[in-house]
Amino acid sequence: MRKKELQIFVYEYDTLVELSESDQKLIIAAREASENAYAPYSNFHVGAALILENGVLIKGNNQENADFTDGLCAERVALFYANANYPNSKVEAMAVTAKNSNGLVKEPAQPCGSCRQAIVEAEVRFNHPIRLILDGANKIMVVDNAESLLPFAFKPVVLG
Ligand SMILES: [Zn+2]
Repeated sequence: MRKKELQIFVYEYDTLVELSESDQKLIIAAREASENAYAPYSNFHVGAALILENGVLIKGNNQENADFTDGLCAERVALFYANANYPNSKVEAMAVTAKNSNGLVKEPAQPCGSCRQAIVEAEVRFNHPIRLILDGANKIMVVDNAESLLPFAFKPVVLG
């Protein structure tokens, strides 16, 4: 038996202005995207913004449905749009934010498990990490890649 320790680096910022200009821009774009979320059932408005290596910025937001399981998260709306329209361009970073009826969530917005899996797939596809910038009122959290949030993700290599 071997016991192994996983190491994950998490960078925390107290305020938006501590971040680089490009990261600030991504968070602001994500906040803008959250304004257009279609979330009449949860009233939980999520926004995502990603930047591609070619400089294109893409926004997404959650799209709910009366048949709840047919909706989709902001992160995957943005990522799938990016992969559909720019299939050869790596994603460099993605910012995620969320607001409820009280405004911006206090703790950093966290992608759900399915979104983590989808973002890891994009990392594997392009052999390139996607930095995640997770927005919250109390702090902003940054991780170097999606795999940090989903160690032992299901990867295409297992399909043979
Ligand atoms: Zn999700």
